[in-house]
Amino acid sequence: MEKWPIGVFASIDAGLGVQLDIAKELGVTSVQLHTPHKANRTPAKAEEFLARLKAMGITISVVFAGFEGESYADIPTCQRTVGLVPADRRAERVQELKEIADFAKLLGVNAVGLHIGFVPHDHADPAFQDVLMVTRDVCDYLKGNGQNLHLETGQETAETLLAFLEAVGRDNLFVNFDPANMILYGCGDPIEAVTQIGSRVRSVHCKDGKWSDQPGVTFGAEMPLGQGDVGMESFIRALDAIGYTGPLTIEREIPQEPERQKAEIGAGIALLEEIKKTIG
Ligand code: MG
Repeated sequence: MEKWPIGVFASIDAGLGVQLDIAKELGVTSVQLHTPHKANRTPAKAEEFLARLKAMGITISVVFAGFEGESYADIPTCQRTVGLVPADRRAERVQELKEIADFAKLLGVNAVGLHIGFVPHDHADPAFQDVLMVTRDVCDYLKGNGQNLHLETGQETAETLLAFLEAVGRDNLFVNFDPANMILYGCGDPIEAVTQIGSRVRSVHCKDGKWSDQPGVTFGAEMPLGQGDVGMESFIRALDAIGYTGPLTIEREIPQEPERQKAEIGAGIALLEEIKKTIG
């Protein structure tokens, strides 16, 4: 398989990410797919999507879950609304996550990505134990589908994330590493974090960002690839050092500005191609 195929975060029906036609125009061969809405998660739709993707020469590396009611407006809102952490939404979201996994299986995709939310750092916190239990439940369900769960980085430090993975104790639990999130949420140096998480990194987002002047309190600013504080070449070198050869999936979340989004992703692809040539 080609080392580091370039991909984009995409969606079929107005989720986050670029539309499939744009992915095709950008010339990428790989996408991470933001889950379609429930009404489109049917066997017939899966067949239709697969036929479209095949005609475009695009494969899906990861299906990313997302839930109604999640908001990334600011850090406290994220803590309250994102992933499997909010207790009032947990049961319904676990159920929906399993449905999304089943849909990913229909698409022949063996990895499901997720922002699990802000896991409490204190292992004695009852909420930590609850999130631990549902994560095991989800991992076991995915295992039955022959799938892995990839947790998106960013809302905790590498140490906290590793401690959580260890506590869950399932062999199909991995990491989708997003270097910009580490910076945007103020959770540590992304290059060091890649090295720490090592072989648990099974998919990545190529995204860039600048540190907030109050890291961890307010968000940093997402930037076009190469214009933030990640250091894309250092990031790719760090991925090389841990033996990561999978897709480099560009994520640029400005769907309200599709023309700018496309242009910036295009420039991001050119940057990654350059870096790939340099590193070899
Ligand atoms: Mg991301």
